[in-house]
Amino acid sequence: MEIKKGVAVSPGISIARSLIIDSEDYRIPRRLIEPSQRIIEIQRVRNAFKDATSELTQLEAGQSAIEQRKIKDIFAVHLRFLHDRSLRKKITDLIQSELVTAEYAVSEIMRGIASHFTKEKDAYISERAADIYDIERRLLRQLLGGKREDVEHLTEEVVIVAHELSPTQTAGFNRKFVKGLATNAGGRTSHTAIVARSLGIPAVVALEGLTETVSGGDTVIIDGNRGIVIVNPDDETIRQYEEYSLEFAELEHKLDAIREKPAVTRDGVKITLLGNIEFPDEAELVLQKGGEGIGLYRTEFLYLNRDSEPTEQDHYRAYAETISVFKHRPVIIRTMDLGADKYTQSKRFAPEPNPFLGLRSIRFCLQNLTMFKTQLHAILRASVLGEVKVMFPLITNLQELMQAKMILRDVMEDLDEESISYNRNIQTGIMIETPSAALMASTLARDVDFFSIGTNDLTQYTLAVDRGNELVSTLYSSADPAVLRLIRTVIQDSHKAQIDVSICGEMASEPEYIMLLLGIGVRTISLAPPMMPEIKQIIRSVTVEDCNNVARKVLGMNSERQISNYLRVAVRKILPEAF
Ligand code: PEP
Ligand code: MG
Repeated sequence: MEIKKGVAVSPGISIARSLIIDSEDYRIPRRLIEPSQRIIEIQRVRNAFKDATSELTQLEAGQSAIEQRKIKDIFAVHLRFLHDRSLRKKITDLIQSELVTAEYAVSEIMRGIASHFTKEKDAYISERAADIYDIERRLLRQLLGGKREDVEHLTEEVVIVAHELSPTQTAGFNRKFVKGLATNAGGRTSHTAIVARSLGIPAVVALEGLTETVSGGDTVIIDGNRGIVIVNPDDETIRQYEEYSLEFAELEHKLDAIREKPAVTRDGVKITLLGNIEFPDEAELVLQKGGEGIGLYRTEFLYLNRDSEPTEQDHYRAYAETISVFKHRPVIIRTMDLGADKYTQSKRFAPEPNPFLGLRSIRFCLQNLTMFKTQLHAILRASVLGEVKVMFPLITNLQELMQAKMILRDVMEDLDEESISYNRNIQTGIMIETPSAALMASTLARDVDFFSIGTNDLTQYTLAVDRGNELVSTLYSSADPAVLRLIRTVIQDSHKAQIDVSICGEMASEPEYIMLLLGIGVRTISLAPPMMPEIKQIIRSVTVEDCNNVARKVLGMNSERQISNYLRVAVRKILPEAF
């Protein structure tokens, strides 16, 4: 049994066999073979080595130019590994002794070697681990060939273990069979974490060395409440976790019962709870969990789970489906927030060195006007179906906002010419998710109907900490006084300008922040639907005066740690069962 501690990003407990996938979605279950099959599997290993060698030899020969020397050298190193007889012997010995498949043996041995390399102090040697993973992938490609199994077509419950998952991979998982996620990489507000939370799949990220510890088919417990992953637990641990899992399910069931009750504080202040969604079919869940509309529809996911660009009609259909669930209630459609981690770098012609500071979000839209206009056309067309609002992400200055609004007006004119009806007075808002936008909030407020504070990016950009990088995940905290002061500025400025303001970052899903947010004047929050009952329970258990006191205390503190501890203690008193 091995216990690993990471960062809890999506609550719940799951116990299941592991399914290891790499970035190419290979699944390598530990499947046993009959003794008579050994000879066949060993032959498969030989063929895979032979085919991988000839593939590499051809590739090596093709690299002739001087600038391709480096690549040629890498291929030469890989070829040396493939010619190494002792490596092949280790793999075939494993098949002989443990009666496992060729792919399992290859994966097991290669990962063992890679893990050994990773532990080396010498940087040159430790970096060779990447070569080993590369060779492993090449061999697996040969072995699995056309019969690669698709993680979208599972037939049994699994927990997914991977080095890293893209938001697209996570969004494509079959919710019926994928019971949990655990990754080496990632942070609390990485998009994989956000999708896991939306889908209600327990998840833990930033687990150092995880993929070197788990083999396909191992039993794994994912504790998404405490950020723990247990590999091959003993019987007593499984029993304890089964009990804990039942208790947690009971708590959730109890909380679900408050769905029909209003989100009102004990002293009668109404708080509006909206939902964050990535796909139209999640709108129903928002409704089920007691949400009063959609506060953030991350429309870029329309682009992420397909190979070709969505058409105007694809956009329109997705929006119409969402609006049909919330006919007379707000649906805030955020224009595509592509780029950074939400545009696979492989799709870009030239990968950017600093994608989070690069051509992402509204900047990408303003440079790709045809795509942008297609989306705005669909949003405007859908605006007559309900209470649709449009929101621009990652605005960093007034000029960007003006440009985006001008394009919106252009598209309105196009619709006029086409005699298509739309809501001419559609409410237009922006996300405040950069320090520059927060500091300029009073100016930006004059040209919008509403703000939504994206605390995920606001925290990332204020503290200069990549939100998805596990190496700096301990430095990433929305409880940092610098972040809190910016949030307070935005709230105050929007109140002065008398425009609506909401919080739609993950902060709004975290119980410990709710009293603070209410105390600094937040009255609308948008969050992941599975978290709604718990957050509503907190709202119903406090008075605004309690919250004001919490905010006053916290805003007088200078250290993140002091603030985090104080907030945790405060919420524990309100909802002890959640901890
Ligand atoms: C945010 O940045 O807080 C936000 C809500 O947007 P996203 O998480 O999609 O970047
Ligand atoms: Mg954002």
